[in-house]
Amino acid sequence: MIDSLIELTRTLGLPGNDYVIIGEGNTSYRDSEGTFWVKASGHGMHEIGASGFVHLQIQSVLALLDQQIDNETMHKAVAAARVDPQATAKPSVEATFHAMLLHECDARYVGHTHPTAINGILCSNRAEAFATQRMFPDQVVLCGPESVLLPYVDPGLPLAVAIRSGVRDYIARHNEPPKTILMENHGLIALGNSPAEVLKVTAMAVKAARIFAAACAIGEPIFMKPEDVMHIYKRPDEIFRRKLFVE
Ligand SMILES: [Zn+2]
Repeated sequence: MIDSLIELTRTLGLPGNDYVIIGEGNTSYRDSEGTFWVKASGHGMHEIGASGFVHLQIQSVLALLDQQIDNETMHKAVAAARVDPQATAKPSVEATFHAMLLHECDARYVGHTHPTAINGILCSNRAEAFATQRMFPDQVVLCGPESVLLPYVDPGLPLAVAIRSGVRDYIARHNEPPKTILMENHGLIALGNSPAEVLKVTAMAVKAARIFAAACAIGEPIFMKPEDVMHIYKRPDEIFRRKLFVE
């Protein structure tokens, strides 16, 4: 039932990708029953199996975002949202932002990683330039006209609330959810309607990060003009290509 999520997680975790090491990163998948699957704490992505995921009630986790509770209470409440009360796997501390993104952005799959190429920029003073501007057309097509950018926030409920406000601000401006979220001193979140979309968005965001770093090493990056970015993003043939990419 969650084979596609297991496969997505293992692929994101392939050592050659350099997206995550050890227990870094997590993924989730929303089914059609008001529930979602999220990676459990303490599992490496590359060799994960079905026991590395927890099945949770989405509404019970979403309700926590509007409560003022400490970390320990949050962990207990997320654990209590398990569909199978006998299950023992501990949901990731980031389960709250997964539930929020699957709900607010109407995504089916979320992939969160800490790619070295991206974190090199997110741990520098150039994060904003990278997140809010675009350098080449395929970056626009797959990663969106801009990324949501957040400052460093404590993982858990505070991070989920901060991402929600960044996402709502993006939706208000663009009339659709973002494809990529960048968190300073932390990492990348890619949203998709299929595992293929999450994989391709992640791969393109990492390629863009490498190009950005190369451009900074040579001189100053030259960004596309905002009107050219939006022109590419709205072109019918590019929208058609984007649909093919994500199937
Ligand atoms: Zn993380």
